[in-house]
Amino acid sequence: MPISYCRHKQTDSQWGKTVSSNEQDKLLFTPGPLTTSRSVKEAMLHDVGSRDSVFIEKVRSVRTDLLRLAGVSQESGYESILLQGAGTYGLEAVVSCAIPKTGHLLLVINGAYGHRLKKIADIHQIRTTGLVYQENETPQAEDVKSVLDKDGSITHVSIVHCETTTGMFNDIEAVGRVVAGFQKEYIVDAMSSFGAVPIDFAACHIDYLVSSSNKCIEGVPGFSFIIARRSCLLKTKGQSRTLSLDIFDQWEGLEQNGQFRFTPPTHTISAFHQAVAELLEEGGVTGRARRYKENYALLVQGMRTLGFREYLEAPKQGYIISSFLYPADPKFDFDDFYNRLNGQGFVIYPGKLSHADCFRIGNIGKIYPQDIGNLLKAIESVIEKMNITL
Ligand SMILES: *Cc1c(COP(=O)(O)O)cnc(C)c1O
Repeated sequence: MPISYCRHKQTDSQWGKTVSSNEQDKLLFTPGPLTTSRSVKEAMLHDVGSRDSVFIEKVRSVRTDLLRLAGVSQESGYESILLQGAGTYGLEAVVSCAIPKTGHLLLVINGAYGHRLKKIADIHQIRTTGLVYQENETPQAEDVKSVLDKDGSITHVSIVHCETTTGMFNDIEAVGRVVAGFQKEYIVDAMSSFGAVPIDFAACHIDYLVSSSNKCIEGVPGFSFIIARRSCLLKTKGQSRTLSLDIFDQWEGLEQNGQFRFTPPTHTISAFHQAVAELLEEGGVTGRARRYKENYALLVQGMRTLGFREYLEAPKQGYIISSFLYPADPKFDFDDFYNRLNGQGFVIYPGKLSHADCFRIGNIGKIYPQDIGNLLKAIESVIEKMNITL
């Protein structure tokens, strides 16, 4: 039986009091942090020293598993780097290390996370060109080709895989082929997709992929990780614009003695180690994709039946998170809607669109079709109580 169905209280025998249980926690239908399994949370009930051999072994095992989940290996020329901080820290680390002073970054942008990469580059005074689309538009590989054709000074290209702003999946493979054809380095923000959406590293020609502990792998927040092509990583030595986000030094430290350069997120790593084991048990990336797709299909079908409409046209929509348009009824007040659902134990997410009023519902985390069914029932009752016409 899936773990989220077992909402028992558990008593910690040593302390004689109730520890946090899934029963009391609200379900998170958000882009992260997400609902995690009890066993992932329990993995954190230990204090370990950063030089403890058990911890170092966990770090080693997690780094190898990440390469395995990506379908690559050290033998095939890839390295994995764990870095303290949220996902954005990993993105900033890659942008501020991989791109030299003379570099020029082409940013493919169709949402808030694409814009965030530009903000990072700007802060580090990196030259940029933006290929900017509307949030409901799909970036086209031919457009990337024509920009690269015209401007030979571009050295790097960045793109977001699942643009969490809308939930759109961008075609990182078509763009990657173009980028590789021009022999540019390719940076992919796969924060909200890695672990649940198959990614063919070779076909996509990815040089740097960034994701984090608390998205589709279903760990808790605390670190980001980078999967890098070694030949690119080696060129970044001494190139970092910061000390703490230096991916080359971080990688070298992890390789040399298995340790982080600065205080490691020990508990988060223990939780992640357990989360990876549970991901593999679920059937790896394809197994997790299956559950999320099921969640998504049920959600969209149920929301349509209630009368809601999605922001994106269905073929553009990925199965990670969906944006729904506010109902036209002027009585609809998002904060009220949100608070009422929250009161029933269901946490949804506000929209992040620049030109449409939407809210978002995520399908990721330790949530199952039955949880989606319960969410839909709660939405139906809230809409009724708010007297909203759909
Ligand atoms: C969540 C997310 C981020 C940012 O991650 P943080 O952990 O909040 O820093 C970046 N890009 C995408 C696509 C995301 O979904």
